[in-house]
This record gives sequence, C-alpha cells and structure tokens, in this order.
Amino acid sequence: MSFPSKVAIDGPAASGKTTIANQLAERWDYLFFDTGVMYRAVTWIALKNKISTKDEPAISSLAESVQIDVKPPSKDDGREYDVLADGIDVTWKIRKPAVDAKVSRVSAYPIVRKALTQQQRRIGLRGKVIMVGRDIGTVVLPEADLKIFLDASVEERARRRFHQRIDRGEKVDYPKILKKLKKRDKKDSTREIAPLRAAPDAVVINTDTLSVADVVSRIEEYARKLDNETDA
Ligand code: C5P
Repeated sequence: MSFPSKVAIDGPAASGKTTIANQLAERWDYLFFDTGVMYRAVTWIALKNKISTKDEPAISSLAESVQIDVKPPSKDDGREYDVLADGIDVTWKIRKPAVDAKVSRVSAYPIVRKALTQQQRRIGLRGKVIMVGRDIGTVVLPEADLKIFLDASVEERARRRFHQRIDRGEKVDYPKILKKLKKRDKKDSTREIAPLRAAPDAVVINTDTLSVADVVSRIEEYARKLDNETDA
C-alpha cells in the first residue's frame, strides 16, 4: 500500500502528537517535522537576549531573521532530533518552563506566524512528511492528504507532561502544570490568526483511553482507507 504523502497532525499541548508522529514517521520512513520547535526557538532566543516577549516589533524581526534548523540527532540523550537556532543547539533549552510560559504570546504575532509558516510550508510541500502543530491542517498545509486532530482532556495531558518531566529528572508540581496547560490552551485557541482548531476534514481522535499503539494503528487504518478510495 502507499501511505498518504502529506500528513497533518494538530492538537493541543501534550495530546501525544510528537510521540505518535515520531512513530508513524519511523514506520513509514517519513520526515517528522514538529513545527512547535520553531516557535519555541524564537521564544528562547528572545529570552536569552533579554528581549521582552511583549515587544512585538522586536520579536517579529527576530522571527524574520533567525535561522532555525532541525537535523538528525547528534547525541544519544533521548532527543528525537537536534534543533539549532542560529547555530546553537537549543534542543533541550526550548523545552524549559520559561519557554512554555511565553511561547503562546510569541506565536500569536502575525509577522512571526507568517515568517515561520512560509518555512514550514516549503518543507511540507516536499511530501513524505508527518507535520505536527496547531494549524497544519487549517493553514500551513491545507492540502494535506490526511489530517488528524489529536485531543485529550486537560487533566490527562497534564498527567502525561508531569511524567515526562519526572522522567527527565526535573522537579515538578502537577497543579502548576495543569494551570499552565489551561492557560496555553486558551491562548492558542483564542488567538486571531491560525488558532488551534480541527480542520473540517480532519479525523478527530480522543486519546484519553488509548495507548500509543492504539492511536498509531487507528491512523494507519485511516491511511489504508484513503489508499483504497484512491484505488477504487
Ligand atoms: O507543540 P508545542 O507545545 O511544542 O508548541 C509550542 C507552542 O507553539 C504552542 O503552544 C503554540 O503556541 C505554538 N505553535 C503554533 N503553531 C504551530 C505549532 C506550535 O502556534 N503550528
């Protein structure tokens, strides 16, 4: 069978997008492209250079000039890829709570979105790609062959994030994680441009009670159905 060439996976924070997309990309030998790293990299550079994330013009020009690269992993430290921002390895730095707290403000700026969307679209159009984000099916790659929207309750997502952080040896507090996720959900889904939303033609999967393997096999079922429809 042939798999759909352009796959969009959207959904809120910690809904399992990265884990699922990564597994699919490995199984299908596709590129896994996590677009959130780009918004995170811009946010990290701003924080590092003490640029206020409220300074929209400064953040916008930063997004237009920063060089973000995603490459195969150079270290065996649990990373799925390297993220380089202006040549600096920011793979783990962009996962810090300080970035989590500010990234949704940065990602709501129109010029930031325009600059990063253009880069993402260029990569997506090459095909054989599993692209992950908030607006892939709606804005970045509306022509995707298969669109998935992964959802889960905010409590379940906070629980997953909590365990991820514990596994990384970080000190964590569940109520704080829950509160921050709610805040980020609200910002991401109520912004004016490209809000977090399922595309009308997306398949919505609630992952609350599903294992990773269950979700992967459901997506492969949809892919198979698509392939049969194309053959018919
Ligand atoms: O997916 P991740 O949690 O790494 O994304 C970080 C943030 O980047 C999101 O909360 C959202 O504000 C922004 N984002 C976005 N559009 C995307 C991907 C991420 O606005 N396509």
